[in-house]
This record gives sequence, C-alpha cells and structure tokens, in this order.
Amino acid sequence: MASFRSRSTEASQAAAERRQREDRSPRLLAEVPTLATLKLELEETRAGASVPETVHVKHVAVAHAPALFDLPCLDTTCTGGGHDVTQQILAALRSKAARFQGEHACNGTTRTAACTRVLRYVGLATYKT
Ligand SMILES: [Zn+2]
Repeated sequence: MASFRSRSTEASQAAAERRQREDRSPRLLAEVPTLATLKLELEETRAGASVPETVHVKHVAVAHAPALFDLPCLDTTCTGGGHDVTQQILAALRSKAARFQGEHACNGTTRTAACTRVLRYVGLATYKT
C-alpha cells in the first residue's frame, strides 16, 4: 500500500470497490423472490446522543438492487468503518416482515478514537401474494 495516496484517490477507489462488491452480489430478487417494495428509514447517531444527526429514506429499486446493504459511515474522519447490515435485512425479508428494525454500531476509527456512530434502520417492505 502506498502511503502517499491522495484522499480523492482513496475515495474513488473505495467507490470502485463498492461497485465491484455490488456487481458480485446476488440480486435482491434472487434472494427474496416474493419481495415487491422496500423502503429503509436510516438514522445515524453518536452513541449516547438522543437526537439523530442524520435521517434519510432510501427507496430500494427491488427489480435491480443487489442483495447488499453495506452503508458507509457518515463520519468523514472515520476509516475502516461502515454498517454492513446485509444479513440482518435479508433475514427480515425472508421472514416476510412488513416492518423491521435494527441497529449497527460502526467499528471504524476516527483520528483519535474508536468511531461512536450508530446506525438505526427501520425497514418497510411489501411482498407479492
Ligand atoms: Zn464510523
């Protein structure tokens, strides 16, 4: 590993690796053939904080989406972190849950300490009958 790589090169390389992982993943519909729609409400907080810092809604394009839910950590100083909740979400979808939720603590590190970001998600799904 070259130690003098620029941040933008690292960022674009991370994006390329993410795309490769998505391309290698099975399609979501191959894993959960009965899935019709999926929406994820995502909240990111710091451990111990009661107010979420970031909330956003992700509409998953079920027809084309990969079976991969690996969400980046939103702390820009965090390295090695992220929230891979693929297994939790696939398990909920296979059980045909209409609403499910969970959380995932980032295990990356910021400049000075372990990253304390926690992702909370609520999934809302519908299924073909
Ligand atoms: Zn993090």
